[in-house]
Amino acid sequence: MNLKSNEPFWLLKNGLIASYPSLKSNEECDVLVIGGGITGSLIAHQMVTEGYKTILIDKREICNGSTSATTSMLQYEIDVPLFELIEQIGEKGAVESYKACSDSIDTIEKLSKEIKSTSGFKRKKSLYYASKKKDVEWLKKEYKARKDAGFDVKWLESKDILKQFGFENTFGGILSKQGASIDAFKFSHELFKLNEKEGLQIFDKTEMTKVEYFKGYNLVTVDSGFEIKAKKIIYCIGYESKNLIKENFVNLKSTYAIVSEIDHDKFKNITNTLVWNTDEPYMYMRTTDDGRLLIGGGDEDFYDAEKRDNLLDKKEKEILKTLKKIKPDYHFYTDFVWAGTFGETKDGLPYIGDHKNFKNSYFVLGFGGNGITFSVTGMEMASQFMKGKKHLLSRYFKFGR
Ligand SMILES: Cc1cc2nc3c(=O)[nH]c(=O)nc-3n(C[C@H](O)[C@H](O)[C@H](O)COP(=O)(O)OP(=O)(O)OC[C@H]3O[C@@H](n4cnc5c(N)ncnc54)[C@H](O)[C@@H]3O)c2cc1C
Repeated sequence: MNLKSNEPFWLLKNGLIASYPSLKSNEECDVLVIGGGITGSLIAHQMVTEGYKTILIDKREICNGSTSATTSMLQYEIDVPLFELIEQIGEKGAVESYKACSDSIDTIEKLSKEIKSTSGFKRKKSLYYASKKKDVEWLKKEYKARKDAGFDVKWLESKDILKQFGFENTFGGILSKQGASIDAFKFSHELFKLNEKEGLQIFDKTEMTKVEYFKGYNLVTVDSGFEIKAKKIIYCIGYESKNLIKENFVNLKSTYAIVSEIDHDKFKNITNTLVWNTDEPYMYMRTTDDGRLLIGGGDEDFYDAEKRDNLLDKKEKEILKTLKKIKPDYHFYTDFVWAGTFGETKDGLPYIGDHKNFKNSYFVLGFGGNGITFSVTGMEMASQFMKGKKHLLSRYFKFGR
């Protein structure tokens, strides 16, 4: 599967941070983590910290899947509004899912301090504004649901949004205290390097091609023919899980992002805020730690890579048109435009759990706009799986729900 177009910003900004050998011998381990993106880096970190002999493989270079294309906003807000999620799965599951994403932001902050990360983690507020008058009614309902659930939120009228952020033509919105942004590509690389020193064995350009199940272990064959005997497998293979799991559990789409030239002055009133709106598909933006404005959106309901990449120019214009509505005076000088595959689930929640067709195995698949925060929740869930325990969120994130 082709997961991204050329020129995703993080890959160009950071270059090839690290490269690892491919597998050239048969190996044994407690846990085999398949997939070396942000999810695999977090799960491997958890496993190594808990003392498991861990191997990680990736068929590409490390972090060259969706993790290089992400826009890395860290939000407690899920793509499905809280009040709607409550209607779909009940109050307990919905509020716990929102809280898990909120806790994940704290966990990433803690972890990035612990490892002395230079990946630009920055705490930010989050503004969710109504782009049409008709959206105000449900957005106020959403505001109330979040307030009732204990989240630190404020309702801003359009004049407050104009004053604080300089955005025209909005119809009010929710300002949340909890949010952050990071360079997930760099952060994952940092985690891999650190855990390699702690014993994690990393093999890139190593594709899992076959799994056989035996009593007490799995035998994984990779593309070069070598084998890994692993007591457990944790699949962190992102959107390519669609090729492995036969049932229809995620809709793959295409999404777009653009990044401006550096201009510390022009974007200063939103440096501390993530912004998204109620358009369908929604437009969202954040600044980067090197002083650029990053805007995403323009989602399309297909994932054909050629068709996706042919739309890059059109999507850039479309995204800039939306920006013009709220910032008519901005001139956005585009430096990079890229596209990526994106996964959407029926309830905006991830798939984290075991699957009846895969013995001794666990999946951590963080889909939607909260892919990264869900992957952080997956650390604790995978840890419970290794101990044979069920996590509180398992029933909401499981396959076949
Ligand atoms: C444009 C864009 C914007 C986004 N914005 C946000 C955002 O603001 N916030 C947010 O939280 N999320 C966002 N997301 C989603 C987020 O990027 C993803 O959830 C996240 O990157 C997924 O990471 P991952 O490690 O699970 O997958 P990946 O980074 O794709 O890693 C999976 C790895 O598995 C490997 N693999 C697959 N099959 C095999 C196999 N058989 N053998 C060996 N290796 C294999 C692949 O090579 C790949 O490297 C965005 C995504 C895109 C595309």
